[in-house]
Amino acid sequence: MAVQQNKKSRSRKGMRRSHDHVAVPAVIYCSCGEPTLPHSVCPNCGAYKGRQVLAKNENE
Ligand SMILES: [Zn+2]
Repeated sequence: MAVQQNKKSRSRKGMRRSHDHVAVPAVIYCSCGEPTLPHSVCPNCGAYKGRQVLAKNENE
């Protein structure tokens, strides 16, 4: 097992961990007004790129 030669300071630890965050997912708004993920079919109305690709199931 590799053993570190010197103690890493709290400052160094913070600098290393400055990139350790979860990326916030991008949100776009569908033409129906529902927030959706980009490059994905809207789960609310089933539209993708302004085109209907899935049948709407409004009675569920
Ligand atoms: Zn939609």
